[in-house]
Amino acid sequence: MQKRQHNLCPESLENLTAELDKLRQLILTHAQSDPVIQVDQQLALTRLIPGLTMEDWNNLSEKYGFSEWFALDLDNSTYFNIANLQRVINDLTHKSERDALTGLYNKQAFEHKLSMELQRVERSNGQLSLAMIDLDDFKSINDTFGHSCGDEVIRTLADMLDASTRGYDHAARVGGEEFALLLPGAGPLRAKALMDRLCSMFADTLIKCKGATIQCTFSAGVASLKGRNKAKGQDLFDVADKALYRAKNAGKNQVHVTRQLIEFEYDRSTMVHSNEKQFLFSGSK
Ligand code: GH3
Ligand code: MG
Ligand code: MG
Repeated sequence: MQKRQHNLCPESLENLTAELDKLRQLILTHAQSDPVIQVDQQLALTRLIPGLTMEDWNNLSEKYGFSEWFALDLDNSTYFNIANLQRVINDLTHKSERDALTGLYNKQAFEHKLSMELQRVERSNGQLSLAMIDLDDFKSINDTFGHSCGDEVIRTLADMLDASTRGYDHAARVGGEEFALLLPGAGPLRAKALMDRLCSMFADTLIKCKGATIQCTFSAGVASLKGRNKAKGQDLFDVADKALYRAKNAGKNQVHVTRQLIEFEYDRSTMVHSNEKQFLFSGSK
């Protein structure tokens, strides 16, 4: 079957990408000079481009990174265009939530997941654990093997966290060589068991990079809470960080769990006071 020829000649395609680049630059400069951008003030820019098919556009968009531009195919149904818009939105949402090096959630997305899980714990009276993970002596890994091998170590741990957790756990890269795991439904014992397993698995992993074999370890701190309480995401981060600090001070390559479990806090307004109790039990006589 003969492949369809582009109606647009290569020069026109190059001109188009140059124009899009210029427009993008202009928009960025404008956005920087006007930092107070209101989200309800948005504009869709459209321009007809005769001879360009959706296939051409998809290729161009991939090659030049125009994924934030949305193309309407005038020959196709509304449904097709809406499905296409949905795909662009999904792609952008995925990109904005993910860390580019590892594909794990970034810090911002993780904080959002944490606040959702805190609300869920509050409603369901369940448990939640947070593990903060930090690679040990990572600076010397970079110094010895180079930054790109350091990146390979980061990716290896990220893949392990992703593969070893359940579908409803959340793994994130929250700093350069720092990771966080959110474990809904897990108390301190279960979280510790999982982290201990990951810790020894990672320490035993041989990472090949540029002819070298690298072995690295991590330390982790775990904080847990249970039931209805007033803890904020930051409280959980702080408690887990303190446990991580203890793990580092105790010699690294280990997991510490905080002894300070953020406890179930009764809603005292619904409790029966002792004078009411007396009334309840003496009233029937
Ligand atoms: P500790 O065991 O106490 O955690 O020591 P450390 O060397 O891991 O900690 P330190 O904070 O001194 O160094 C962290 C290093 O991580 C320094 C920085 O260059 C490196 N780093 C941060 N982000 C990246 C990254 O994206 N890629 C690579 N390769 N290195 C990174
Ligand atoms: Mg660190
Ligand atoms: Mg470190």
